[in-house]
Amino acid sequence: MLPLLNLKRQYENIKEEANLAAIEVLENCSYIMGDNVKLFEKEFSEYLGVKHSVSVGNGTDALIIALKALNIGEGDEVITTPYTFFATAEAISFVGATPVFVDVRLDTFNIDESKIEEKITSKTKAILPVHIFGQCADMDAINDIAKKHNLYVIEDACQAAGAEYKGKKAGSLADISCFSFFPTKNLACAGDGGMICTNNDEINTICRALKVHGSGEMGQRAYNFLNDIKEKIEDETDRDNTIYNPKKYYNYLIGHNSRLDEVQASILRIKLRHLDEYITNRRKTAEFYKQNLKVTDLKMPYEDKIGKHSYHLFIVQSDDRENIVAELAKPGIATGIYYPVPLHLQKCYSNLGYKVGDMPNAEYLSKRTFAIPMFPEINNKEKNFVVNTIKSL
Ligand SMILES: *Cc1c(COP(=O)(O)O)cnc(C)c1O
Repeated sequence: MLPLLNLKRQYENIKEEANLAAIEVLENCSYIMGDNVKLFEKEFSEYLGVKHSVSVGNGTDALIIALKALNIGEGDEVITTPYTFFATAEAISFVGATPVFVDVRLDTFNIDESKIEEKITSKTKAILPVHIFGQCADMDAINDIAKKHNLYVIEDACQAAGAEYKGKKAGSLADISCFSFFPTKNLACAGDGGMICTNNDEINTICRALKVHGSGEMGQRAYNFLNDIKEKIEDETDRDNTIYNPKKYYNYLIGHNSRLDEVQASILRIKLRHLDEYITNRRKTAEFYKQNLKVTDLKMPYEDKIGKHSYHLFIVQSDDRENIVAELAKPGIATGIYYPVPLHLQKCYSNLGYKVGDMPNAEYLSKRTFAIPMFPEINNKEKNFVVNTIKSL
């Protein structure tokens, strides 16, 4: 049996360190926003080359809080891709705004930057590109369009931890970016986790306020910023909040309860140190697959030369997908179909009025694409098993 991803192997490689770190958290009993969370935020910021990283409960919350921090809601439109995990559009809808879909490029599967401008209206507030499967969207083009029309850009980098664009890390390329540390992602914890990154001090403050009920020092700072109030506020950072926090039950904004917990942060700190090596291994496997499968009828994923693809998933295409997937299952090779229904055709979005044919590229891909096993620890025997089985079909 060969799964799409073998989490056990990744755990085995860091087992001693991870077990110690998790036990230390249990022993310390500082479970919420303790040292591991603070240090992981700092280390993640350094890794990406951004000023602020705000940890949250998961990637979906990261998107929701990011949208709220930019004051996007009822009556607003956000331009995004239909060929992504549902949470991207769900977050836009959740804050009360409307997702406006723009078809994708057939080569990178990312939002087609040349089709964005025609969808901009007076209601458009932001562009939300997704670095799908771990390859960055064309962020220079997208940022240029946003600048011209005075829009925000939010990166959905949930699949792209460790990917690069023109020498810069995914997640450092826009006004604000969102990550997920769900167990299947490139940088993954042992449960749910997420992060919001930005270079903007005010956005950072508002996100920090929103993730904890809009309360405390950050709540007050966010409130004063949003209402243009100048007031000296006491810095809480070095106070032991378990003993005395005068502003804890003062709420300044309607927020969320969305935190990364200490155990997850302690594991993420360890894995972050291995992230570049994980990506290097993924890229080696991608190269091997491409070299060895180019003689087959499968279409290999395209890699632009602008960035560094992180191969969150290795996505191939075939006219005969259902058959190949069934044949690979026989000897126990797992596959995954990403994504069978483009978001503009999902039942829950029937009210938006899209119909079959509106996004021809996303619809075409949704019938052809599937993932084959890809994870940093996949060994030569397994890679050959995949290649030889596909060749034998
Ligand atoms: C995983 C993912 C999310 C959501 O992250 P969760 O942590 O599962 O909430 C959002 N967008 C994309 C593109 C994703 O792959």
